[in-house]
Amino acid sequence: MLQKKDLFCMIPKVDELLKDDKLSILFEKYPRTIIVDTVRLCIEQIRQEIMELQEGKIESYKIDEDQLIHQIIQQVENVCTMNLKRVINATGVVIHTNLGRALLSEAIKEAVWDTAANYSTLEFNTETGTRGSRYAHVEDILSKLCGSEAAMVVNNNAAAVLLVLGTIAKNKEVIVSRGQLVEIGGSFRIPEVMEQSGAKLKEVGTTNKTHVADYEKAIGEETAALLKVHTSNYKILGFTQEVALSDMVLLGEKYNIPVIEDIGSGTLIDLSKYGLTKEPTVQESIAEGADVVTFSGDKLLGGPQAGIIVGKKKYIDRMKRNPLTRALRVDKLTLAALEATLRLYLDEKDALIKIPTLHMLTISPTEIEGKAKALLKKIGKLNLDDEIKILKGVSQVGGGAMPLEELPSYMIAIKPFKKSVNQVETELRKRKIPIIARISEDQLLFDCRTIKEEEFDMIIEAFAEILRT
Ligand SMILES: *Cc1c(COP(=O)(O)O)cnc(C)c1O
Repeated sequence: MLQKKDLFCMIPKVDELLKDDKLSILFEKYPRTIIVDTVRLCIEQIRQEIMELQEGKIESYKIDEDQLIHQIIQQVENVCTMNLKRVINATGVVIHTNLGRALLSEAIKEAVWDTAANYSTLEFNTETGTRGSRYAHVEDILSKLCGSEAAMVVNNNAAAVLLVLGTIAKNKEVIVSRGQLVEIGGSFRIPEVMEQSGAKLKEVGTTNKTHVADYEKAIGEETAALLKVHTSNYKILGFTQEVALSDMVLLGEKYNIPVIEDIGSGTLIDLSKYGLTKEPTVQESIAEGADVVTFSGDKLLGGPQAGIIVGKKKYIDRMKRNPLTRALRVDKLTLAALEATLRLYLDEKDALIKIPTLHMLTISPTEIEGKAKALLKKIGKLNLDDEIKILKGVSQVGGGAMPLEELPSYMIAIKPFKKSVNQVETELRKRKIPIIARISEDQLLFDCRTIKEEEFDMIIEAFAEILRT
């Protein structure tokens, strides 16, 4: 009769395992400590399994050494690959918040890396040989593109709103329409940011309607600003009224109160020219007279995560002097990526091609169909038994921008033959380079809008491995 203590004796020893040929190759690639720790961990798991084994199962228990070695190799490779890694976005959501929002352009790779891997002029003025400002690198180009007097950049738009309110309205009142008390994914809520900034929220109007008179009635001794928030991720339809920015500006001028606009996505190009829904552009807000405008760097702008503040010099100067700015400041990688991205905007045609977010949003359905056909052709060569075809569908802008926009697109649809849709979806998601697809009506959808052509071969390799077995 085999007993548990006999099984314990059969567990391979750490030293023996480490001498195995398959494992010794790992030492060339990975740190020794990680391999040894993993071997110990896997052995400990077997010990646990044996301890929990029921009496009747002892006799048939086997330690499969090949399986154990395979497991160790897999775990070492897992531990040694980056946790934060690229994925293939087949969801068709262009600004996918969970998948990293905007993609940076290949065109700026060198500029960004050059600053990252070398000393730089981050806070050094080469003209005078004295200390410079990190904000100076992007201020001129931002002002030029937006038509503003001044500009600065912080970590993200949430930080931008916090800084603006904290600088202009600390311990004072800010008037906001009840229809604009937004919550943006990841817990950005206007009333809460307002509270953190030290400003007091003064709500006016109702959820669906706010009039100029509502703002005017609320203005008093304590009023420090009028705030307009772009309701980027929802639309109030039907019996509604919002006060135009220009009317808020007139009111602000009458009472000498600044008007702040959180424009959210902040596009610099009027995308309605390319068939998308009209979103307010930053230039329009500045031209209409907003004193301060804030927006994200990594939504429709298509740059790195950043919060951009543009507007009148007297307000921006005060923000630069606010001690909070130091806590919210951007790093050199962000600045390099932002400056390089903004430079692409100097030529609009160039921007539409080279900035991935803009390219993916403005690419024609015919072009997407071409991509889908090319991918389908490659898949055809795999001779799979699964039902695979091209489907018409819609992609989304994402990132809380243009929530109602449905962009016509083409997708590869797969009905797996040997496995369930959920099984295939999971296997795709757990790959070294995860492929994130959508499931709809018992098929897997791969939207070709957000898949790059250079990713086709990775997808083919995944299909070959997952669908064939
Ligand atoms: C997205 C958004 C924010 C938050 O911007 P982050 O860059 O994610 O911090 C704030 N306000 C509006 C209106 C937004 O759309």
